[in-house]
Amino acid sequence: MTEGICFENLVKCCGQEVPPALIIHCSNHLRQQQIDDFILHDLGIASFDRFAVPGGAQFFAAGGMQYKFKMTDTERCLFLITAHKIKRVICIAEAGCSWYESIHKEKATGDFLKGKQVNDLKIARQELNKILPEAEVQLFYAPYNDMGDLLFEEIV
Ligand SMILES: [Zn+2]
Repeated sequence: MTEGICFENLVKCCGQEVPPALIIHCSNHLRQQQIDDFILHDLGIASFDRFAVPGGAQFFAAGGMQYKFKMTDTERCLFLITAHKIKRVICIAEAGCSWYESIHKEKATGDFLKGKQVNDLKIARQELNKILPEAEVQLFYAPYNDMGDLLFEEIV
């Protein structure tokens, strides 16, 4: 018996044994609600595995000092994909991502970072296709519009 407070959550499990998708995105707290709403209402996915790390799917393209993240985070995604029989992966890159700014420092202008992020998303798709050739992989770049709303632009 624990001596701390016990919270009871009344949200029931979705009942799906196999999650329909793995979502990979940045862990930035500012975008979580918008991403969840996009996944549920625009993509129609009510339940999914989430892999949220700084920079999102950037780790698939990581080299140099960041290569360790490619090794560990790819292994973690591979675990989820295998253990949960996932056939669909969605990668979302947020505009203005602090992880990208920290990696690219003085080159961290909007256009340069967007180019890097879109390119890294495409590398992520290539890497995921190696791991899971039959999987559907969707890529989205997420900037804000002039109204302050988050957009999800598909990268084909
Ligand atoms: Zn970020």
